Formats: sequence, C-alpha cells, structure tokens
Amino acid sequence: MTPEQKAKLRELPSVDDLLNEEEVGDWIAASSHALVVESLREAVELVRRRILEEDGEVAVERRAILDVAEDIFARRTIPSLRRVINATGIILHTGLGRAPLCSEAIESIVEAVGGYCNLELELETGKRGRRERHVEGLIRRVTGAEAGLVVNNNAAATLLILNTLARGREVIVSRGQLVEIGGSFRLPDVMLASGARLCEVGTTNRTRLDDYEQAVNDDTIALMHVHTSNYRIIGFAEQTPIAELVTLARHFHLIVIDDLGSGALIDVTTLGLPAEPMPAASIEAGADIVCFSGDKLLGGPQAGIIAGRKDLIECIRSNPLMRTYRTGKLTLLALEATLRQYIDAEKAAQNVPVLAMIATDTDVLAERARTLCELLEQTVPGESFYVCSDTAYVGGGSLPGAEIASVCVQWRPKQVKLSTAVQLLREGEVPIVARVHDDAICFDLRTIIDDDFEDLAIGVADNIEDDR
Ligand SMILES: *Cc1c(COP(=O)(O)O)cnc(C)c1O
Repeated sequence: MTPEQKAKLRELPSVDDLLNEEEVGDWIAASSHALVVESLREAVELVRRRILEEDGEVAVERRAILDVAEDIFARRTIPSLRRVINATGIILHTGLGRAPLCSEAIESIVEAVGGYCNLELELETGKRGRRERHVEGLIRRVTGAEAGLVVNNNAAATLLILNTLARGREVIVSRGQLVEIGGSFRLPDVMLASGARLCEVGTTNRTRLDDYEQAVNDDTIALMHVHTSNYRIIGFAEQTPIAELVTLARHFHLIVIDDLGSGALIDVTTLGLPAEPMPAASIEAGADIVCFSGDKLLGGPQAGIIAGRKDLIECIRSNPLMRTYRTGKLTLLALEATLRQYIDAEKAAQNVPVLAMIATDTDVLAERARTLCELLEQTVPGESFYVCSDTAYVGGGSLPGAEIASVCVQWRPKQVKLSTAVQLLREGEVPIVARVHDDAICFDLRTIIDDDFEDLAIGVADNIEDDR
C-alpha cells in the first residue's frame, strides 16, 4: 500500500459519521434505517476497494461517498416490478404483462383493496359465498354458457378440465393442434400431468372427422379441440370444425372440450383483424366446455375462464385442485369490471385498451407520432427524429402473422451507440422498451399511450446525458 492510499483510507468517513448528514436523515424518513445503513456501508466499502485498486485517483470526500450511497440506496428502494413504456408495437407483450387494464378495472381495484371487500360474503344473506360468483353471471352472459368458473390462467383451466373430466381416460386430439404456448405449456405435457391419456389422430396438416371416429374406443371420454392461436398451417390443410366434433361426440356420448386460447369476446374482424374463434360460437355449436385466457384478446387481468355445461362445471368446481388455482381479489375485481364492458360490444371496443389499440386508425397514430416527434426534438437537442410507417403485432400468442399497419417515431442516435442507447432506455427511471429496425430505434405509437410521451422524451434525454 502506498502512503497516498494509507492517507486516503484514513480520510474515509465512517458510516456513523455519514448517518448524521441531514440528507441521510431524509432517506431514513422515506424508507428505513436498516436500508440506509446498508447503502452507506456498501458505499464506503466500494470506495475503500477503489482506493486499494486504483492508487491515488479516488475521491473520498463526504459528498462523493454520499453520491455513491445515494445511487445504491435508490436502486434498493425502486420497486422491482414497475411501470415500463411499451414502444415495441406488440400489443399483448407477455414480457411486459400482456393486456393493460381498462380504467374501470383500475378504479374498481383502487376503490376496493385499500380496505375490505365482500370477496366471500353474500351481502343479502350474510352467509359465506364463493368468490367466483362475482363473475359467473358475466361469464354466462358473454359466452351463452349455462355456467362459468374462473382460475388463475388458461393453462390452469386446461389442466383442471382434463384432470376433472378425463383422468385415467383417453382424450382425442388432432396432431395439428398439439400446441406449445411458449415456455412450459405443451399440450401433451399438460395432458400427461392431468392424468388423462392423449390419443393423437390425423396428420400435422389434415385431420378429418373419420380420423376421430376411428380412434374412439371404450376408454375415450372426450374430443378436444385446441385453437392453434400462435401459429397457422396454411396451404393443404384441414381441421374438423367444432360442430362436426359435436355430432360425433353426441353419437358416442363423449364430451367436447374447446381450448380457445385467446378468447375474443367481440368479432375482431370489425377491428380489421383476421377472424378469431369466439367462445359464444363454440358453445352455440355444442361444445360442452370451453376455456380461454383473461389477458389476451379479452384485455383483462391474467385469468383462465371456463364456461360450459352446468353439471361439468360443478364437477370441476369440486375438484380439490380448484383451491390451488383460485384467483385473488385483485384479479376478480379487474375481471368483473372488464367483462362488464362487453355487455355492449361497441363500448368494449372503445374502453378495453387492447381492442382500442388494435382499432386505432393510422391517421390518428400519425398525428400522435408528429406530436411525440416535436416533443423529442425540443427535449433532446442535437438528435433527429423521424415519423415513419411501420408494422405492429397483436402478439401474446394471438393471431400469428396478423400484421397491423402502424406509425412510429424513429431515432438514429448520433451521440450514443445504438446498442448502448437501447440498453440505457431499458434501464432508465421509467424503463422504455423499444424495437430496433433498420439501424434505428423505433417508438411504435400503437402501444405508446399519450401519458407516456413526457417520460419517453425525458428518458431519451437522460440517455444522451448519462452517456456523456
Ligand atoms: C395462451 C394459450 C394457453 C395458455 O393460456 P395462459 O392464460 O397464458 O395460461 C393455452 N391454450 C391456448 C390455445 C393458448 O392460446
């Protein structure tokens, strides 16, 4: 150790010293003594190590150490799970939490969760009630089914349905519908975990009613239809429609299960998208049980909705596994408010953010892009931004290949490297997740909301400053 290093180590303030600083008192008031002490200790230790490694150049004044401590403290107090700006143009981005909630759902949560709510209390009778009853009527209404149920997500719904109705029995599924929905949801694996036996029929691209019929045996309990929501087989392809499966199932006394995946509750062709199967149509065609996600095209919270025949729903409800999949009050509050929007399809198209984002006209997006572009030019000197047309996607494993014309603001950074800029945007105070395309960072107006504009501009400006 050099004499300079020794001198510097002696100069280092102690944690106790630093605790007497006025601003440190403010940090303690805003969080906790323990967290502040940890941050100070870590800052002093960091500077001590720098002194030992870098001989000479390290600042040891109180101010410098407090700055280091403040950074550490800030990182420890920022919530881990927090708001980000989705500039990717992918509307149902699973990494970014899928569907943003409608304002009615948010209000409902804010109103009810700071205190108590009638989660499992029937106000009319004063008796204990089932928590799912708050949404059952709405599920019946939007699907036309006799009964409904809600669990944590559609994967749970599928597993619960199969475990209740088909354990130890055979379920016939077309080879073209044995989907993987990202990560750990692969239909054959879910089937195995449920205790049901999978009987694959047909080929990848074509499965006909005959194929199902020939596979039926004494062990068969159900025919399952799975919407291939995240890929499409085009060309020489044929799948058997639900109505035909129903006819066959009735003849052999089998159950028809339809996993619809995204569960569009309005006709999405009116929003300019390719057709998606709707739960009500499947029930109408005679499916005994359908299930779909709450946070895909429905545009609500993460949930799995099960609807269908009353006797079967009763069985599913009595499955002991049901207790392990039950939803929390936050989900039920948001789901009830979201489903309520669908009482009027036009209202849903306007109020449910996912649907509104899909339906927004490109002229409107272009106008908003110009506003954002001007704001960026004012806030970030020395950089240029351009409005250009681009393509957005529904995402979230819905509507594969369905492109939506969109408009974005492009940024080709001059003062920062492109890859550095992308990273800094992601790590900013309000993280911004953008797409890189043609050597430019693209901010897609389809998923950016007006309330994001200012934070986005500030984020880009900070980005340039941080890197100087
Ligand atoms: C998305 C999807 C699932 C899984 O739904 P989660 O709500 O994400 O659990 C299951 N089946 C199909 C067909 C899907 O599209």
